[in-house]
Amino acid sequence: MAKRHQQHLFAEQDPVPAVWEQAAARDQMTARLVFNRPLTTEFSYLVPEGLHDLIQPGQRVRAPFGRGNRMTTGFCVALGTAGRVPRKLKTLDAILDREPLLSHSMLELTHWIADRYLCGWGQVLQGVIPAGVKNKSGTRLITLFEPAPAADRPVDELKLPTKQRAVLIALQRAGRALSIAEVTELADCGTGPVQALRNKGLIRAIRERRSRFEADAGAVATTPDLTLNADQQGALSAIVDVLEAQAHRTILLHGVTGSGKTEVYIQAIREVVSYGRQAIVLVPEISLTPQTIRRFRSRFDSVAVLHSHLTDSQRHWHWQQIARGAMQVVVGARSAVFAPTPHLGIIVIDEEHETTFKQDTTPRYHAREVARRRAEIERIPLVLGSATPTLESWLRVTRGQDTLVSLPTRVKRRPLPPVVIVDVRNDPRIANGSAIGRALHTAMQSTLAANGQVLLFLNVRGFSPTLWCRSCGEPVKCPECDITLTWHKDRNVALCHLCDYAAPPPAQCPNCGQPGVRYFGIGTQKLEQEVRNLFRDHPLVRMDSDSMKAPGSHDDALEAFRRGEVQVLLGTQMIAKGLDFPNVTLVGVIDADTVLHQPDVRSAERTFGLLAQVAGRTGRGDRGGRVLVQTCHPEEPSIVLAARHDYLGFARFELEQRHQMNAPPFTHIVRVILRGPHESTVDHTARKFAQVLRECSAELKSDVLILGPAPAPVTRLRNHFRFHLQIAGSTIDSLQTLWHAAEPGFPAVSDVEYTVDMDAINMR
Ligand code: ADP
Ligand code: ZN
Repeated sequence: MAKRHQQHLFAEQDPVPAVWEQAAARDQMTARLVFNRPLTTEFSYLVPEGLHDLIQPGQRVRAPFGRGNRMTTGFCVALGTAGRVPRKLKTLDAILDREPLLSHSMLELTHWIADRYLCGWGQVLQGVIPAGVKNKSGTRLITLFEPAPAADRPVDELKLPTKQRAVLIALQRAGRALSIAEVTELADCGTGPVQALRNKGLIRAIRERRSRFEADAGAVATTPDLTLNADQQGALSAIVDVLEAQAHRTILLHGVTGSGKTEVYIQAIREVVSYGRQAIVLVPEISLTPQTIRRFRSRFDSVAVLHSHLTDSQRHWHWQQIARGAMQVVVGARSAVFAPTPHLGIIVIDEEHETTFKQDTTPRYHAREVARRRAEIERIPLVLGSATPTLESWLRVTRGQDTLVSLPTRVKRRPLPPVVIVDVRNDPRIANGSAIGRALHTAMQSTLAANGQVLLFLNVRGFSPTLWCRSCGEPVKCPECDITLTWHKDRNVALCHLCDYAAPPPAQCPNCGQPGVRYFGIGTQKLEQEVRNLFRDHPLVRMDSDSMKAPGSHDDALEAFRRGEVQVLLGTQMIAKGLDFPNVTLVGVIDADTVLHQPDVRSAERTFGLLAQVAGRTGRGDRGGRVLVQTCHPEEPSIVLAARHDYLGFARFELEQRHQMNAPPFTHIVRVILRGPHESTVDHTARKFAQVLRECSAELKSDVLILGPAPAPVTRLRNHFRFHLQIAGSTIDSLQTLWHAAEPGFPAVSDVEYTVDMDAINMR
């Protein structure tokens, strides 16, 4: 029995099959399985005896599931024993992974995510283990030979023919398993004696996975750590205190742009690495942070960078290296929070205010909250860094739940740049349809004449964001979605920014049939044209998701800017983040109002954050710098306070507003989005959902608030109609309780799908 079993185990490309006869009632070992479904239930299965020694939590298994008992891949999350086998218990069929894909603490973490974000544990597991890890991408199986236990006595006693004897001795001396080529070479024989020894049970074959892929180390010349200033030193000690206490604590590192936060992360990680532990550093988007990556690579021996361009094989290879503890530092976007570091010592989240830390598909986790939980489980510090912390994080420090450390000034006491608010309501250039008003034009002239560099920021892609009919006054919308099309002049298409629908700009209005569709508004492409016309002799680069499609194009553009070959860099939020160029002496914000009027409770926070980040891109060198902000709302608090670099003032003002509105961070909001091809069915189903929720809420005497249903702000997306409900509660607990009580009562309507978004950020 045991022998048969081993063969199956090592034939690893085939699952390990159960031996059914053995499943009789003797040990009655059970495994708890979860499947990739939106279910909170775990299912118990009998484990056939042949698999008792092999099954471990964290492995994938195959088991009959559902009414049809279709063989389905699931995850084993726990083992147990059933005293008496309940009659209906099914038996699992096979184990799919030789080793667990997840450790116990990662299982605990993923379970927490399922709870916290109201989705199935199996969905979380499916979502967080990279595909390349599941399919063991980039590895191949090789056969190796080693002496079997039966050969564990003096070779002479075995009375073997010469060649077989030579093979066995070679294997015993090698002290490791050898490939067939190695054995035959060492014993100077063919494959016959190897096979003969195998038949006698004196040697055995094992199958091992070897990686086909070796990453380039990305080695960079090492540079020494900097000497920290007093504020940085204070921040570092606060982190080291937590490290030494071996307890969890979240530290909010609030430091203005250029205050030296990254240097603090690096030296805290230095401490962690010196204990033989690893660090995870989360950044908003790898492709936008080449400078940060280079800095980490120049300071540590082994840095794994997990970016979205990795192939499955590369990702798998990194995962294995990280799991072996071979990587001191893991840098990556949100999903790197799941990196399988064996002895994690610290998690750092840089620019914690960025919305990319929230995943927009199931499981809809926020990497900051997952990191906090992981840091609690592993009893390590979590460091959140930002010049403009989210109000969620700020509220926690004002309540004493987290520790605040501040870096109030830039390194070397460089002042923050003066920010001028330019009211463009009566600007003659703007009235004529220009993007650049009089004041910004003059400022650009003098900056460029003095050989300074200019950044221009505009948060709108394309040439003109609106197509509009002169005759009937109707905007031209995407045929599938509920937004107007944007004209992209370079490709001469009208493009939907939601679904990527593209068509030649219509000659006639699709609404009234008259000719004369006009383009309205200014996007980055139009801005580019205007700057080229105004400043012919000054090289320019546009950075947005249309112009920077090729991998590495960001890095190339930024390098050209750094070398001074490019004098004007214009673009979307891509240029607002993390860049550190001392020769940038002017930053122009073309339109500060683009974010302000979105129907979103966080629009003021985003406006403030964006302006603060953009302003942070200048004044970093000896030549100083200044910022011009064009707006039609010069009195708007988020703009005024951003111009004063007054985060504390903004946080106080905005928290007060949110408190009055009973909005996040004082409440948690679960957004339920229902969608389907028929408007009335979706509407009807949404009403039913609301009714079930309200009834449950009344029954539970819950204090949550159920808002809606209402058509979602984007009512039609890819030809599907969307309605949403918002459930607001003061605690996560109350929302979880209500949700779990209500969920079984939701009607299943074949044409309507729904998603649940806990702590929703995207309100579209
Ligand atoms: P942040 O992450 O807050 O934007 P950085 O860590 O990138 O700030 O620091 C901004 C600049 O100041 C970088 O060029 C960095 O090398 C430099 N710097 C940081 N700390 C020090 C220090 N203690 N002494 C000298 N220069 C420093
Ligand atoms: Zn569309």
